[in-house]
Amino acid sequence: MNPDNFVNPVIKITLKKHPIVIAIDGTSASGKSTNSKLVAKALGYIYVDTGAMYRTLGWYCLQKRVDIHDPKAVAAACRKWKTSLECVDTKSHLHAVHLLVEGYYPDKEIRTAEVSAATSLIAAIPKVRDWMKKKQRECIQFGNLVMEGRDIGTNVFPETDYKFYLDAKLEERTARRSADGITENLAARDLRDSQRAAAPLMIALGAKVLDNSKMTSAETSGWLLAEIRKLMPQPK
Ligand code: C5P
Repeated sequence: MNPDNFVNPVIKITLKKHPIVIAIDGTSASGKSTNSKLVAKALGYIYVDTGAMYRTLGWYCLQKRVDIHDPKAVAAACRKWKTSLECVDTKSHLHAVHLLVEGYYPDKEIRTAEVSAATSLIAAIPKVRDWMKKKQRECIQFGNLVMEGRDIGTNVFPETDYKFYLDAKLEERTARRSADGITENLAARDLRDSQRAAAPLMIALGAKVLDNSKMTSAETSGWLLAEIRKLMPQPK
């Protein structure tokens, strides 16, 4: 077999080369989304917002009146919901993977404080995390990825060499959220995300860590791109 060919173990298709996955984890409102999008655009990679996948399940459970405090009920809903992955060219010329439920991507609906709170509850359920990990790994069918989340470097793609962890002071992160018109208790969500037993938020072994409290997004994404380029194999 041509050593350049790679059989994706999850979806069992042969790809020309092993896709690169850039894992960007970190606390809530640490700039993961903005900077992951900037990095994906600069490299021509596909952006994956794994938080949106968890949020979609949180929103779906609220819609369908599934008791979000009952792990068995949530796991059952997650087993049965009808989803598909789609790679779209967004308005800003960014390629992104969306998780659709019953053919619909609830872009706006998943951004409320109510959905955020429900999401960090359902995200602690091991069966939900197993389902999400499988879906997230399937995203490499679309090509090279910039994937943001809480456990990408530790759990979803632990084999990647490109691991980053973003953080910023709580006051700064709270101010960023209020600037977007959202008031929420980020400290409570971070605590829940880092104290759960299944794949908690933590710094992956070997991850490069950045506190961007005093940095603009241009500076943060510039730092990420410089670090990524250092890690990329140099052309011979
Ligand atoms: O990143 P975002 O704030 O949209 O994530 C919403 C919630 O989804 C997080 O607070 C966390 O509970 C959960 N999440 C997770 N693992 C990921 C991404 C998000 O547990 N990889």
